[in-house]
Amino acid sequence: MLTRRICDQWRRNGRIPPESSPGLNLSLDRLSTRFYCLLPAAAGNDMRIALFGDIHANLEALNAVLEDAASQDCTEWVCLGDIVGYNANPGECLDLIREMECPVVKGNHDEDASGDHCLETMNPTAATALEWTREQLSDEQREWLHTLRMVRQVSAFTVVHSTLDQPQAWNYVTNKFDAMSNFSYQFTHVCFHGHTHVPRVFVKENRVGEVAAELVEVEKDLKYFINIGSVGQPRDGDPRACYAIYDIPRNLIIFRRVDYDRKTTQQKILDAGLPPNLAERLADGR
Ligand code: ZN
Repeated sequence: MLTRRICDQWRRNGRIPPESSPGLNLSLDRLSTRFYCLLPAAAGNDMRIALFGDIHANLEALNAVLEDAASQDCTEWVCLGDIVGYNANPGECLDLIREMECPVVKGNHDEDASGDHCLETMNPTAATALEWTREQLSDEQREWLHTLRMVRQVSAFTVVHSTLDQPQAWNYVTNKFDAMSNFSYQFTHVCFHGHTHVPRVFVKENRVGEVAAELVEVEKDLKYFINIGSVGQPRDGDPRACYAIYDIPRNLIIFRRVDYDRKTTQQKILDAGLPPNLAERLADGR
């Protein structure tokens, strides 16, 4: 269902050749998400890029976000990391994102799930979920997580899970002073990040300020460091999945909130024997 809708969308936008194209003997399912990164955008297309991250193994939220992005005419996809951890479908989320062949950066949970190091310095709930996640993933899936890059430039913008100044330190940006260090290392006009699970928009002119994470008109003389919020475990009090669309031709960044089948996600957490508070917090968006 999801595959068909995304395929239809991409076909309308010229992103996927007609099924009858000479030399292409692929079923619709095989076309799925495999080609969108490989084919150049059709000339004259509006490029709308869906940026999503902090999925945290929440398959229902991820599917809802991908469907919403397709309905919003997005033709490109970028994943900002933390595919796994906390919730109950790490392998399924990983496989789906991997199949999309979109640019992905590594999150701290991706790194912890792919290693064998001790997690005792981590908060106990996150550590319990990560130990469980390690057991669910195959060696091959963990190796794929391990090889993800920390920072990527996509088109004319940059993506990182935490910050550009010390990506491997996994620092949290919770105010404009934290954001200042990042701007010193940001050489693109716009940089997207995640990690705190709270959508925020930091703007640098002479000083660093902040604007509401709603509809942002990108001005060419300013720099933007933008937290796109979390798909699978929002923490800003709104339990709906969060992601952002970068509409490049219109210089707009649009934040989207999407409802999903939360009850199913919560039940899966309980059925898996994961800490029950991981299910409860999804209802509160905290
Ligand atoms: Zn996260």
